[in-house]
Amino acid sequence: MQTIVIVGGGAGGLELATRLGDTMGRKGRARVILVDRSPTHFWKPLLHTVASGKRDPQVFQIEYSAQAAEHGFTFMHAELRSVDRAARMLELAPCLSDDAGEARATRTLGYTTLVLALGAVTNFYSVPGAAEHVCTLDNVREAKSFYRRFFGACVRASEAHGEQGAAVNVVIVGGGATGVELAAELGYSARALAKYKIHTLDPARDVRITILERGARLLPHLPLEQSARAEAYLKSRGIEVCTGTGVTQVAADCVHVGEAGVRPASLTLWAAGVEGPAITGTLGLSLNRMRQIMVKATLQSVDDPNVFAIGDCASFVCPLQGAAPPRAQVAHQQAVFLAQALAAAHGRREGRPLAEFRYRDYGSLVSLGPVAAVGVLMGGSYGSKLAVNGTFAHLLYGLMYQKHLMALHGFVRAAAVTLADWLRKRISPSVKLH
Ligand SMILES: Cc1cc2nc3c(=O)[nH]c(=O)nc-3n(C[C@H](O)[C@H](O)[C@H](O)COP(=O)(O)OP(=O)(O)OC[C@H]3O[C@@H](n4cnc5c(N)ncnc54)[C@H](O)[C@@H]3O)c2cc1C
Repeated sequence: MQTIVIVGGGAGGLELATRLGDTMGRKGRARVILVDRSPTHFWKPLLHTVASGKRDPQVFQIEYSAQAAEHGFTFMHAELRSVDRAARMLELAPCLSDDAGEARATRTLGYTTLVLALGAVTNFYSVPGAAEHVCTLDNVREAKSFYRRFFGACVRASEAHGEQGAAVNVVIVGGGATGVELAAELGYSARALAKYKIHTLDPARDVRITILERGARLLPHLPLEQSARAEAYLKSRGIEVCTGTGVTQVAADCVHVGEAGVRPASLTLWAAGVEGPAITGTLGLSLNRMRQIMVKATLQSVDDPNVFAIGDCASFVCPLQGAAPPRAQVAHQQAVFLAQALAAAHGRREGRPLAEFRYRDYGSLVSLGPVAAVGVLMGGSYGSKLAVNGTFAHLLYGLMYQKHLMALHGFVRAAAVTLADWLRKRISPSVKLH
């Protein structure tokens, strides 16, 4: 029996494992194994809500082992260390919690087909001091750590109130979707913490949130008027937006911009771009400038037909639309495609061509806090665009997560989770209070 190993259970990998487990694993047509270094899945596009204290990741995470048991695949909690492509063998390091006792030895795992769905990591673009001093939003641990620091900075500044300069300066580097979504949520969190008397600061005056964007406008992937709308909305909420402002150096308490400018920063969040994880450079596979694995239209690596790559760690260039962006929408479409392609290829004569992936851009939505969003929907045979804003756009934004839940759990369970979430929101504080 062939063994399909998927490394990385994020937006793309978990959906692929679930689909392949249902169609092949359960029926004994293939052994499907998912490897991830975390025991739980959290949908990455929601990380800014963890970083702003709005969402408890414990409640929203999915246990890989439970998903595996329900959907006919095996889960291995381990970190990929290396790949011996000639022997089709992976080296895996066990991931143990702090109190799990004696460390187990490194394991090996053979595969017939390997799918890499490793995601991406923050790209610091070699800016001096960035790697040492900034916070990032690559995973739940980092998002929780950012909120703890924001909370602590508010409390400390509140205790020092009255002293000169007693304010919280949050600097967000990067005016893409991650930076904009986090800035909008943080503004609400600062006000909510004041409401619950966690601090005595005036959120509008003492908690300064600034976005520094090197380009000419925020959200460059959206049409001009939507970028302008997002900027105007953020400014109306007291958030400072500085476009055309490149960060040249970062220190523990400030960032350097341009030639001579220095901005104080109690907390700096780097959201200026992503690149493939370091391990992609050790596999002997062709990579692009962003360290992503170059794949063909079949999503196979250009160098090895037994290795596929999907999502943020893959570089897929669509003949019509160009390079697919690092977005959950791409990871989802590639997971759906590959689940079908691998199932269809099973049992076929070797050498027969695999199906080819086509990326379709359905648009993009960016949340501007709990009640608003901006974006554009794309569709129709002529690629028509429809700009959407405000509460309607926010409702559509919420549907993206529902879609992910439905892909993993089916309609009934996804609806139950959504209802439980709605009820929880009504009986819990709007922000984490410790
Ligand atoms: C704050 C934020 C907001 C975003 N908003 C949006 C949005 O609105 N719309 C949108 O389309 N996209 C959005 N994105 C981007 C989106 O989250 C990613 O494009 C998407 O998650 C990529 O999916 P993936 O499966 O490639 O990787 P990921 O979802 O990142 O998953 C990668 C998985 O691989 C595992 N892993 C990595 N290395 C190893 C290893 N060596 N061994 C074992 N396991 C490993 C990780 O633990 C993780 O579970 C946002 C991202 C962020 C950070």
